[in-house]
Formats: sequence, structure tokens, C-alpha cells
Amino acid sequence: MTEKKPIITVKVGTSSLTAGEQTLKRHLMVDIVRQIAQLKQQGHSVLLITSGAIAAGRHIINNKVRLNRSLPTKQMLAAIGQLELMQAWRDLFSIWEIAIGQVLLTRADICQRQGYLNIRDTLHTLLAHGVVPIINENDTVATDEIKVGDNDNLAALVANVVCADLLVLLTDQEGLLSGDPRKEQAPQLIPLVECIDASTYALIGAGAGTQGTGGMATKLQAAQLATHSGTTVIIASASRKDVLIQLAAGEKIGTTFIPKITLRESRKRWLLSEKPQGSIAIDAGAAMSLVRSGASVLPAGVKKVASHKAFERGALVEVLDPEASPLAVGLVNYSSKEIELIAGLHSSAITERLGYSYGHEIIHRDNIALLTKQ
Ligand code: GLU
Repeated sequence: MTEKKPIITVKVGTSSLTAGEQTLKRHLMVDIVRQIAQLKQQGHSVLLITSGAIAAGRHIINNKVRLNRSLPTKQMLAAIGQLELMQAWRDLFSIWEIAIGQVLLTRADICQRQGYLNIRDTLHTLLAHGVVPIINENDTVATDEIKVGDNDNLAALVANVVCADLLVLLTDQEGLLSGDPRKEQAPQLIPLVECIDASTYALIGAGAGTQGTGGMATKLQAAQLATHSGTTVIIASASRKDVLIQLAAGEKIGTTFIPKITLRESRKRWLLSEKPQGSIAIDAGAAMSLVRSGASVLPAGVKKVASHKAFERGALVEVLDPEASPLAVGLVNYSSKEIELIAGLHSSAITERLGYSYGHEIIHRDNIALLTKQ
């Protein structure tokens, strides 16, 4: 069996794309694209979280109108600049004949169950087809209540959705430093952080760059979020030669934050922390594959919806064995109504029966937590 290459999520901020100036610098972008192309050639799946829309929009419109700092103004700039940003990425990725897909997200989309499943399915399908998802916050609809607010935290949420092995936060510093470089002389690089706590935050100043929204504080928040869900996080310099290639090869560059838990364990804890909203009964064969190899629950192995209360796609349900004992909990890709229609069918018959399909699985193996000891 060939070893599965890690899924790598790369986040690049406005200052790394503009070198602190007013426009997107394609010579900087092309270097990132070249490295992603090489990683893909090595078999990695790569997602790119990119800022730069607002900066690009400001550059296009700045000379023509006076701008205030209101949210609608920023949203206008993002709407103008997102096109410019994507066009630049598309032109550069096309040099290596790599297709890209634009994915614009808000926190509300990710935190809401159906949105979570839809995003996850879309991202995995893009990756399965060799496409690089290019992700940014959907600034047009983002208000304070629903926005992530900075792309460092957005990248951590995306890493969680796709169960990324590695999240690389590219920035204009070598990594986390022992002091604020604007105030102290020659602060040292901290190569490894095993636990992010108040003392880690104390190392940094207020620290946001002039154009982006992040700085080191949001990078630490993102690192905290991602390491808690099983992803290794590295903060490294965007301008270091071949930084992504070297990191993927396991070289010690920048600051590495070690995950507290495995991806699988974190997923399991999350699933077990919630109350199931219904249950489905599976047959003996499906129960055996589930327990022995953590297999997905397919329609063919499902006997019926066992609970009386209806549930929606994205609900957490219990999976019952033929003796009606709970075996596992998992997030369903289909509502109870849909499961009633497709129970017992081969997955290839889903579209014919429903007129559409959310995929082969009723519960995907990544979204299942076994209740029995493994
Ligand atoms: N979504 C914003 C943009 O594209 C960037 C947010 C951030 O830099 O964190 O300009």
C-alpha cells in the first residue's frame, strides 16, 4: 500500500503578497505557485488560503475616489480586488497547468453543520481532482457576527474541516521570535512550541502589519486552534527560498507548534461531545466492517432509520447494530427522509432514487466515532 501524503494547508497574507506595498506582486506569488506545483508533483494535496483582495481592490480604485474605513467600503474593495487576486493566481497556476477553484467562506458557513459538510465535500472533491482550492473570507457577506475576521484563523478552521496534517502560516518573519523585532535588537527564533499559553502570547507585541489584519497574535490563535484539532502548525517566512518544499521534506524551519492530539482523536472527541439527534440501524456485515476497520456506513448496509424523530443532513446520529445496541455516532450526509428512500441500495443507485447525491456514504468514515473499544 502506498503511504498517503499529508494534506498541507498554506496561508499567505497580504504583506507577503505585496511586500508591504500597494499592489499584488506577481513575482512573489509565482514563487509560491512554483512550490505548490512541486508539492503536488510529489503527491501532496495542497490548499491555499490567500489574503490580498482588499489591498488589490484599494489599488484599483484608490486614485479615483476618497475612501473611508467603514465595513461597506472594505467589502466593496474586497469585491473589486477578489477578481484581481483570483486572476493573478489563475494566470500563475496555469503556467503549471494546475486548475484552481475559488472558495469564499465565513465562520457561520463552517460552524453550521450542513455548511460544514458541504464545504468539506467540496474541498475534498477539488483535491481528489487535483485542483488547488484558493480560499478567502467571503468579505461581501461577512459582518462581525459571522466573519472569521482574519485569514490566520480562517486557515485553522479550514485545516480542521479537511483534517489537514500540516498548516503553514507564511509571514514576513522567520517565525515566532523571543521578542518584538521592532522594539528589541536581534530577538531569537523559537523553533518549537509544545504548548501555547499566556507566556507564548507575552512574547509578541501588538504586531499587525499595515495592510493585513493578522500579525503574530492571530497566528498564535490559529496555531492554538489547529493544534487542538490535531494539525501541526508552522509559522515561517514567505521569502525564504523553497520554504514550502523544505517544510514538506521535514526540515526544521520557522516555528513548529506540535498538535496536542491526533486528528482522529480530536474528531472523535468532538463527535462524542454532542447529543445524537436520531439513530439508524445497520446490518451485521456493515457492523462488522465498521468495528473492524472503521469503514464508512453505506446505504447498502443500512436497514432503516430507527428513531421516530426526523433529522436533517448534517445531524449527529447513533448507529445501531442488529441487536439495537449503539455501535458508533456519526454525522449523516443524508436526512432521515432520504435515508428511508436509499436504505439497502447500492451507492450507485442513490442519484436514480433521489435525483441527486451527496456522495456514496451515509456516514463518511472521517465523521464516525466508535463507541466500542477499538
Ligand atoms: N479577506 C481579506 C482580504 O482578502 C484579508 C483578511 C486577512 O488578511 O486576514 O484582503
